[in-house]
Formats: sequence, C-alpha cells, structure tokens
Amino acid sequence: TEACLGAIEASSALNAFVHGTADKARDMAKAADARIKAGEATAMTGIPVGIKDVFCVKGVPSQAASKILDGFVPEYESTVTQNLWNAGAVMLGKLNQDEFAMGSTNEASCYGPAVNPWQGADGQKLTPGGSSGGSAAAVAADLCLGATGTDTGGSIRQPAAFTGTVGLRPTYGRVSRWGVIAYASSLDQAGPMTKTVRDAAIMLGAMASVDPQDSTSADLPVPDYESLLTGDIRGKKIGIPREYRIDGMPDDIAALWDKGADMLRDAGAEIVDISLPHTKYALPAYYVIAPAEASSNLARYDGVRYGRRAKLGQGDGIVEMYEKTRAEGFGPEVQRRIMIGTYVLSAGFYDAYYNRARKVRALIKRDFDNAYADGIDAVLAPTTPSAAFPLGAMDQTDPVQMYLQDVFTVTLNLAGLPGVSVPVGQDKQGLPLGLQLIGRPFEEGELLNQAMVLE
Ligand code: GLN
Repeated sequence: TEACLGAIEASSALNAFVHGTADKARDMAKAADARIKAGEATAMTGIPVGIKDVFCVKGVPSQAASKILDGFVPEYESTVTQNLWNAGAVMLGKLNQDEFAMGSTNEASCYGPAVNPWQGADGQKLTPGGSSGGSAAAVAADLCLGATGTDTGGSIRQPAAFTGTVGLRPTYGRVSRWGVIAYASSLDQAGPMTKTVRDAAIMLGAMASVDPQDSTSADLPVPDYESLLTGDIRGKKIGIPREYRIDGMPDDIAALWDKGADMLRDAGAEIVDISLPHTKYALPAYYVIAPAEASSNLARYDGVRYGRRAKLGQGDGIVEMYEKTRAEGFGPEVQRRIMIGTYVLSAGFYDAYYNRARKVRALIKRDFDNAYADGIDAVLAPTTPSAAFPLGAMDQTDPVQMYLQDVFTVTLNLAGLPGVSVPVGQDKQGLPLGLQLIGRPFEEGELLNQAMVLE
C-alpha cells in the first residue's frame, strides 16, 4: 500500500487518480494485516486497488467525472466495492474516466484526460483509451495492483488493449450494478482490470455476487475462478468471425489476430472459421440504444437531488434552474448523447430507430447463440482497430470518428456476453495491442482459462 501511494504521488502527471484516499488506505491496510495474522485472509486481503469514479463509495466523492455531480458524496456503498472491502482489498482512491463513461479516450472528463504510461514517438502523450482510462493507466503504471472498470460498449477492454493490461467484462448480471452510476442500464457491467489473467480471475471472484438490490443480478453461484485456470484448452473450438475482418484493417492488427489463433491452436484448440452475419449493424444499434437509455438515466440530474445547482438570476423559475444546471453541468459529449437519446425515443421516431435497434440487438445475440449451439466455445477477435493514439488526435466535433473505435467491442455488450482483452503483441511503433476472447454466458472461468494461453 505504501509503495502504491508513493507511486501515485510520483506519477501525478498521468492524472489517473482524481481523488486519493491515503488515510483510508492505511487504515484498511492495517486491518488487512491483522486479518492475515489471524489467518482469515482471502486472496484479495491487503491488495491495494483503485476504483473508477463511477462507483459510489460511502463518504468519498463519486461523480463519474462529471461537473454535474460536483459535491456529491454518496451515503451508501456500491455492492462491488463493498464486496472488495469484505474480501480485504485496500482502497487507494478514485480513478479518472470519461464523463458518465461516455467516450473512448478519457478526454471527456471534468478532470482532464488520464495519460497512457506508454509514450508515442518523441515522447508524445497518448490516450489510455476510455472510458476506464484512469483504471488502465493506473494498472499499467503499477500505481495499484488492480482496478475496477465498467464496460457498456468496450470501456474495460479497449483501455486494457491500449495499455498492455488485462480487462475482463463479465456476463451481464454476473456483477451487481447497484451503486454504479448508470450509463446504459441494459449494457453496463463492472469488471476487473489487472496485469495478468490470474489476477483478473481472483478479482472477479471478489467483485461478483448475487445481489437482491439489482433485479438483473443473476442468481448463480460464483465459482472459484482461480481454480479453473488449468491452462488446458485441448479440444476447445475457437471461432474466428469473418465479418470482423473489416476493410482497411491495419496489417499489424491482422497479423496479431493470426498470431493469437496460432497460440490457441498450438495449445490444442481447434480454430474454426465462423459467421456472425449481423455484426455490421452492431455499432449503429449500440449508438441508438446506449444514448436512449442514457438520456433516461441522466434525467435525474436536475439540480435538486444530486450535486450541483447553477446560480440563478432574478426571476428564474424551476425551468430555468433545470436548464442552467444541465447546460453547465453536462459536458458536450453527454449533451450530444442526451439529444440523440431523446430523439430516438420520441413518439415520431421511436419505431424507426429505437425499436429497430432493439430488433437488431436480438439478431446479434442470435448470431452468437447459433455459434455456441454449433459447439463453438469462444470467439477470437481484435479488441481495437488500432493501438493507442495521441491525446487530441480525435476531432471532438466529429463524434462518429470516435464511435468507430468501438467497432469490435460493442457486439458482446448487445448480446450480454463476457469478454476479456489480453495483451498479445505490439504495433510497428512498439505500442501494445490486445486481442479479445468472447465467451459463453456465465462461463468466465472457462474464458479466462483460454485467455491465459494468449498471455
Ligand atoms: N466508447 C463507448 C461509448 O462511448 C463505450 C463506453 C463504455 O463502455 N462505457 O459509449
């Protein structure tokens, strides 16, 4: 814990931690020490972790990197963080992210962007990805031994790929969403970000639980994931989806994909060419459904119930209060998504956009169901279409350019499936690249076992 607290201070230029909790960390470390001496430790006891700002932690500012939650200090604890503390983990602080988890570069944060510890040519500052950019940067720079992230459309896996770390998005329902500030409730899922697959297995085991406070929590026992890591994947069938071979895929991404398939084959898996025919509709469907749900979830920030309220002028009434609070509290990307969301949900366009997207979502899920029914155990694909790029390289006025970052990641969220990104190689500049394995629902243990072969 002391080593991490020192590293956090020395690496403040990474802007990974946005709120430190050093005193709390020291108290928790002492308690963990006592627990270890009493012989009551779990594998997480005494392990210092960072928490993405989107998780409510009792008594600690938790504002999803949004100005609108300035001053909000939760009076309750998210289930995920409570589970981690129950297992003996130590809280180092809150981690940077894109505002309300909307983004792929961590640039949409009220704290300014987190910085990737990997540097570009001539020391150029790179994005750690997003939205869990602070979590990824902190793990990659050894500021913590693990971090929590959330993945609505790739926000755990893409930052993991950009920083050479491991990121696991569990099956929808495996981890409780209670106390996690909502982005798109039917897609959101929290998961671990770590240095190794084994660490991800240990941390997932501590985070996951059946939770009556989340009606979508799956009523299934949480296995001992670490004990499932045998490294034996002989006879497993790994699907290579041909629709992911998009036009203009960079050579190093294509080569990485082949390398991953070879590693799995060498370990005794069978590599099978498969089709997921509705893949090309995933990105447009995601960018209808996610903003629709976001616009509804964000309606609660009204200047009354949480956080910030704008200064009002003479004669301003309640409508002006809402308008001014939301106009100054939400950043441009969040405002854009609220507008898209309310538009696709409006009476005149509901069928044309929202309902259509929901139908597409069902077809995407069916593609995976069919592959798994045919005996496929997991699907292998690149995590991202490129390595980390310089901060500022994305034109913030051209959101579609940024949305294209998510081309490989959003399908799994729409289908509710688990996926893990593992660092497998480098691009021509020596920057890390990741591959993802997409698994069968609620078989995270199996998935992690396969992922270990790619490490
Ligand atoms: N980049 C995607 C988005 O902006 C995914 C974000 C996420 O998974 N939270 O919606």
